[in-house]
Amino acid sequence: MSESTSFSETETSPSSSSPIRVCVVGAAGRMGQEVLRAVGAASDLKIVSAIDREHVGVSLRELGGPRCPDLPVTEKLGAALDATPTDVIVDFTHPSSAAQHALSAIKRGVAPVIGTTGMQDADLRQIREQCEAQATPALYAPNFAIGAVLMIKFAAMAARWLPDVEIIELHHEKKADAPSGTAMLTAQRIHDARTGTPARKPQATLKAEGALGATVQGIPVHSVRLPGLVAHQEVLFGGQDETLTIRHDSLHRSSFMGGVVLAVRKVRSLDGLQIGLDKILFADQA
Ligand code: NAD
Repeated sequence: MSESTSFSETETSPSSSSPIRVCVVGAAGRMGQEVLRAVGAASDLKIVSAIDREHVGVSLRELGGPRCPDLPVTEKLGAALDATPTDVIVDFTHPSSAAQHALSAIKRGVAPVIGTTGMQDADLRQIREQCEAQATPALYAPNFAIGAVLMIKFAAMAARWLPDVEIIELHHEKKADAPSGTAMLTAQRIHDARTGTPARKPQATLKAEGALGATVQGIPVHSVRLPGLVAHQEVLFGGQDETLTIRHDSLHRSSFMGGVVLAVRKVRSLDGLQIGLDKILFADQA
């Protein structure tokens, strides 16, 4: 595996001598605690601060285990970035605050790795503009799991030949946004890759509103929310007497961490705001 696609959480990046200084935003959340564990275990990364509006004052070791520094969770991102030199923030919070966190970081020359999904297009536009104005890069990746990135890539490949497609995404019941960021990005990539026009125009009389799903970039998207699920998606293609199903399952939140660690290592080498971990994984094919 080349250096650019290395996933090891403990591997030291050969290109950097001093560790990359990381602020974890949303550190007390489900994803944030995984990020603390993963970044804490990587010898070339150093957690220098952690932000959350819950669990303020609690040691990071309590949240992320013994490989985290014994620092307390604090509440204000700007104050933490002003107090401690930082290279990268990793944000897994809520769509209502993630854009502000990113703008606050970029203003200070700190590169955001944004995992929070459900942000508005206007948020991303503002982040893109601020990245350009401050010459600071950022990455927004709605899914950091390698299998999910491949699912989206394979779906875009298939869409060139099979334009009829629907997406079913399935997540835990506490997820704040629907459709998922992964489904939105999948629809975008399929839309960009699709050369033919879908043959099928659903003619069904709707007996219940929403029965045919939402429409994103002309593609029906169905969201399932149930306890027990983590993050799952099927992309279903239909052709002449054939179907193709591409499915990805994240079975635990640790599935996202290889991609998060890779993004932290690489974000500062990006140009402006990039969307999707594929921009790092497949940088050599751009
Ligand atoms: P969560 O609710 O468990 O955690 C969010 C944390 O952020 C909480 O501790 C909360 O207190 C904190 N928070 C929220 N707003 C804040 C603010 N303004 N300031 C400080 N802290 C704040 O949620 P989660 O399951 O960890 O998911 C977080 C986000 O990550 C969601 O948007 C989810 O869709 C996304 N997600 C992305 C990926 C990916 O691969 N990109 C994978 C899973 C989840």
